[in-house]
Parts: sequence; structure tokens; C-alpha cells
Amino acid sequence: MKRYPVPLVPGPTTVPEDVLAAGHYDFGSGDIEAEFFEHYGRVEEKLRALIRTRNRVAIMSGEAMVVLWGALKSTLSPGDRVLSVATGVFGYGIAEMARTITSEVTVVGFDYDEAADPEKVSAAIEAFRPKMVTMVHVETPSGVVNPVARVGEAVRACGVPLFYVDAVAGAGGAELVTDDWGIDLCLVGSQKCLSAPPGLGMVAVSERAWEEVERTGYQGYDALLPFRDALERRWFPYTPAWHAIAGLEAACDRILSLGLDAVIQAHTDVAAHTRKRLREMGLSLFPRREAESAATVTAVRVPDGSSWENLDRRLRAEGVVMGGSIGPLAGKIFRIGHMGVQADRALVDAGLDALARIPA
Ligand SMILES: *Cc1c(COP(=O)(O)O)cnc(C)c1O
Repeated sequence: MKRYPVPLVPGPTTVPEDVLAAGHYDFGSGDIEAEFFEHYGRVEEKLRALIRTRNRVAIMSGEAMVVLWGALKSTLSPGDRVLSVATGVFGYGIAEMARTITSEVTVVGFDYDEAADPEKVSAAIEAFRPKMVTMVHVETPSGVVNPVARVGEAVRACGVPLFYVDAVAGAGGAELVTDDWGIDLCLVGSQKCLSAPPGLGMVAVSERAWEEVERTGYQGYDALLPFRDALERRWFPYTPAWHAIAGLEAACDRILSLGLDAVIQAHTDVAAHTRKRLREMGLSLFPRREAESAATVTAVRVPDGSSWENLDRRLRAEGVVMGGSIGPLAGKIFRIGHMGVQADRALVDAGLDALARIPA
């Protein structure tokens, strides 16, 4: 696979050498080594700090979809009411996933270029009285950040038992306060803002959600239940990916040693700089309101008279890879992924300089 000197894809992000090196080691079989349980506990503690929670964090083997599915299947039963807040590909997609378990799914939908309106969500919750509200923190395919804190207030005010938040593209790069925001199932992946290799999904589970997990009793590869007391019982449902967990620890250490607040501020600053330069180049941001543009990924409209295929080819010729989009936005917008180690002004400038050199 050809390597590009200016990687700006919104995940999987570049993995730093020390993170790669931390996973290159003969670890042995985690489920029988006492050292593994200590290691896992330490990484869990670091993940808690990164997403600001005191809840147990399950670290599961698989793409982030493993926790998106696992959290739904482990807490929902046929007939349960789910209200899905949707502003993009993942928000609408999660509603479809929930529908495979229960027919009682209502979508509070918004356009792809706008964030959710908490008042509308609140009214819909009042009317529908769901067991679970689902939403997405950062919609990666469209570069929109949603008001999770404000929706969380409505969720609590209405006494909704479960608040499910896909924070895969925000955790470790955008503001996220799992416990204060009342998130019961906070979903995270290894390969976005953490800049670890793909292959792990993490979920912070509140006490209330664990009770629901016990009651539901779902069993399967993606089941959360065994993770409730896996450490205490020293029993994992499959051989843990120890090497990947070691890499994840190095990735957490990178952020925690810089300071989480400083890392989030750096993302915010790089994102503002990216938007300013794009505007100066005469390009239009995709999110309708600039305040709703994410700190971790910037989505831009493909200019009239140009095509993403053409832009992508020319950018690659300059050594730059940005992201196209998926779903209904494919070909219409493209994305600059300034998340994780890619939240770097010099890197973004190199990408934007190349973009500016390309004739539309
Ligand atoms: C990347 C992403 C996912 C899915 O992650 P995979 O690891 O590719 O399964 C889910 N939600 C959001 C918001 C994402 O950006």
C-alpha cells in the first residue's frame, strides 16, 4: 500500500511509532497471565480519564461497530421503545440497527448539514417516552458535532433509563464528559482521535445500563455481560487482544501526558484554522452553521464544476490524502480529518497548500 506523506483521512488516523512499537511484543495468552489483568485494569483507568467517567469500560476486540451493536443487543428487547436522534449517516444507521431488535423505533431526524435541536428532541422524548435515546457525538461523514450535553439534560429530565452515545469520532479530540452528560453507554473506537490501530471497541457502561444488561441477558460475541466483572473473575469471553490493548495504552499515554484539555484545545484551534483557510480559498463548509462544525473533522462542499474523483486524484499526486464521504453525501463533499496526531497545524497546512495549488 502506497504511503502518503500528508495523511488527512478522518480515521483510521496515523499511528505514531511508539504506539505501534508498544503493540509489537510477545505477550502470551492474556486470559491466563496474571500480568494481563493488571495491564487491562490500568488501560481501563486511562480510558476513564480520557472520556471522563467513573464507569466500567469494556474493551472489546473488533471494529467500533462491535460496541455499537453490542450495546444495543445487550440492553434492548423486542417491544422496547428507542428514540434515535439522527443528523447523519451514523445517527440514521443506529436507528436501523435498533430496528433489527425492536419495531418501536422513532427517529427525530435532521438534515445532514445541521446539528440536532435539543428542544425538538426534548419534545419528542416527552411524547414518546422511550427506554433509550441514541445519538452521535461527531457525525464523521458530514463533520457535524451534536449537542450531547443538552440532549443529555432532556434525557434525564424525562427520566429516560438509557442514553446511548456514539462518541467514536469525538472521544479524545472534542469535549466529552461522559458522566456529567449522563451517558449510560459511551461508545469509543481505537482508530480515530486516539490514533491507535483499528481493531478495538470500547464502551463505558453506567450502573443503570449494567442492570439492563443483566436483565436482558443477551449472549454472543458482542455481548457486554461478561465484561461486567471480567477483571474480578479473571475470565474473559475470548482471548483478549493483548498486543492491541498495549498499543491502546501507549495511545492513551500520549494524550494524557500532553493533558486532555490541551489536546482538545489543539483540535479546536486546528479546526478553526482549517475553516478559516478554506473560507479564504473560496470553498464552502458543509455544516450549515459554523458553530456546528466538529473539532475533529471538517467537511467541505466539492466546488461546482469539479468532482471528488478529480480532486482526490490530484491531491494524491501531491502526496495528500483527504477523505471522500459515504452515503447520500458521497461525491458531494470531502473531509479533512484533523483528529488524533493529525490535529497538527503544519500537516493541515501542507494539505491545504496542495488543495490551493490544484485547479478546480
Ligand atoms: C468510524 C466510526 C464508526 C465505526 O467505526 P468502525 O471502527 O469503522 O467500525 C462509528 N461511528 C462513528 C461516528 C465513526 O466515526
